[in-house]
Amino acid sequence: MADCVFCKIAAGDIPAKVIDRGDGVVAIEDLNPQAPTHLLVMPVEHFATLRDVALGPDGDALVAEMIDVASRLGSDRGGERGFRIVVNTGADGGQTVGHVHLHVLAGRAMSWPPG
Ligand code: 5GP
Ligand code: ZN
Repeated sequence: MADCVFCKIAAGDIPAKVIDRGDGVVAIEDLNPQAPTHLLVMPVEHFATLRDVALGPDGDALVAEMIDVASRLGSDRGGERGFRIVVNTGADGGQTVGHVHLHVLAGRAMSWPPG
């Protein structure tokens, strides 16, 4: 999608620290990390929300791949201490980039409830 920063990152047109690539997803380091590990796992193809992914072509497989990659990276980085996966959705959810992405946070104790 034109003017989508994450489409451009996924296509390699904007530089990012790429951590992993799967069939349909890419994992990068967040530009403004909120924890010692802060990764973003996103589909290469543009979808606004996780619901749009689920309803799209091969939605089950793509949702599963996103969760597979995110949980593997979280387990690798967080070890026995654990990690957190967050998906901000829409204005109330705090989503600032309109291309769905899973935040993978690890390396410090997280607080609850979120702000
Ligand atoms: P959201 O607020 O949509 O849940 O998360 C967007 C995330 O993308 C933020 O954590 C922000 O730091 C990150 N981000 C925004 N623009 C860029 C960019 O150009 N490169 C990278 N690596 N991360 C970005
Ligand atoms: Zn996009």
